[in-house]
Amino acid sequence: MKPLPIRLRLSLWYFAVFSCAGLVLCVASWFLLRQSLKTIALYEMGERIDDVRNILNAQPPDATLDTLRKQFSDYTTRDDGKWLQILDQNGNWLFRSERMQAIQSTLPLLRQSPNQNQIVEFKYSTPRHSGRSGLALTRTISAHGRLYTVRTGFSQTTALVLLQMFARDLILLAPGLLLLAAIPGYWMSRKALSPIAELAQRARQISTESLDVRLPVSETRDEIYHLSETLNKMLDRIESGVRSIRDFTANAAHELRTPIALIRAEVEVALFSPRSTNEYRESCVNVQKETVRMTGLIESLLMLARTDAGVEPLRFNIVDAAHLVRQVGNKWNASMSQTDLDFRTEVSDLPMSVLCDPLSIQRLLNILLENARRYTPAGGSVTLRATSVNGSVLLEVCDTGIGIPEECLSRIFERFYRADQVRSRELGGSGLGLAIAKWIADQHKATFTVESQIGVGSRFAASIERVATTSLDRDAELATTSL
Ligand code: ADP
Repeated sequence: MKPLPIRLRLSLWYFAVFSCAGLVLCVASWFLLRQSLKTIALYEMGERIDDVRNILNAQPPDATLDTLRKQFSDYTTRDDGKWLQILDQNGNWLFRSERMQAIQSTLPLLRQSPNQNQIVEFKYSTPRHSGRSGLALTRTISAHGRLYTVRTGFSQTTALVLLQMFARDLILLAPGLLLLAAIPGYWMSRKALSPIAELAQRARQISTESLDVRLPVSETRDEIYHLSETLNKMLDRIESGVRSIRDFTANAAHELRTPIALIRAEVEVALFSPRSTNEYRESCVNVQKETVRMTGLIESLLMLARTDAGVEPLRFNIVDAAHLVRQVGNKWNASMSQTDLDFRTEVSDLPMSVLCDPLSIQRLLNILLENARRYTPAGGSVTLRATSVNGSVLLEVCDTGIGIPEECLSRIFERFYRADQVRSRELGGSGLGLAIAKWIADQHKATFTVESQIGVGSRFAASIERVATTSLDRDAELATTSL
């Protein structure tokens, strides 16, 4: 079933809660009124019994039964007397109204018992009406040291009629009141939701072309304020995400255009004019160089795309960092000496087990070493170092190269950022290496720092937390690091 709109649901809830509250109030009022009427009746009957006691006390203590009977005889002429019975402690009637005698059978037998205080509901009939209801109060009183049992009654007819009328009025009024309550309920829910409708209206205007538009934020710090604030922050994130995707696409296209243009030019020159075998060979070498560069660029782009999508797989193992660093150093020896660089690998003898993805850490070191080789002039030196410092393993790549200007240091980890545009392009850089290295360091919760001075050199360092290993683990490490 399709869920109802919030406005309608709110109105229905309001209506339901109001109806329940109204119903409880009506029922409670009815019961309270009934209770009050009963209390009034009991109070009046209590007063009547007090009158009887006063009359008895007003007589001399030695008054005879007949004298006492005489005192109560005029009760027959008063309305109160219709509902009165007085019995003395010897079982003699002082007074017994006709009506009380008529209903005698519906009431418990009146008999002497001290401290009596009994309330009984009974049914009675009059010559014109039958099935009426009454309330009887029986109490033991004492006068001049003698006990008397007095029973008096009270018709509940008026009270019942009043209660019936009250209930009827409530039933008649209730639908009208509920309807009256439903209208403001609907109006209130409409009013409460109108800011949301306004937000929705504004949100409809936001598209990828107008991501700078923001939702209105209300002055009052209410729920709508928090909603618009949250949505605006979300829009900030979407805008910066879309902007970085756009920049990334534009930069990637720009980076790919250069090698493709070079390949095309090289091939066109080779095709349009007849050339010697050596010249063709030279063209092929140039084309191959550009395709290698392009392949590297595409690989970096793909890796960054995978990291953005969260699908770049990392396989963490406990690894001996010393062993891993030595392996990386060995691979770079030849390439460094070809470019006339003094390359050293320094690894301390302390234990250096780390939990890492060995292939990624290798990649990180390769990026740093590639940069060191690229930006260090011939005759300079490059050092790859692994040391154990304060419970961490510090991996460093230091060079005596051209250095990085201080104002560029904070930006070199951005995608496609190059401190030296021309040199980086000439030397085959893409501006993506350090962005990938930073991502790898972050995945290992490693602190990644750079220090550099123009004309003196640079030092990149990644500090990874060390883990304690047993001799058994060490065998496993060596197995995993034999890459
Ligand atoms: P690139 O492929 O251009 O080297 P990176 O992301 O690896 O891209 O590096 C970003 C920029 O940082 C480089 O263009 C370069 O200007 C600077 N850089 C990185 N490493 C070094 C270094 N060891 N010496 C001097 N400059 C460096």
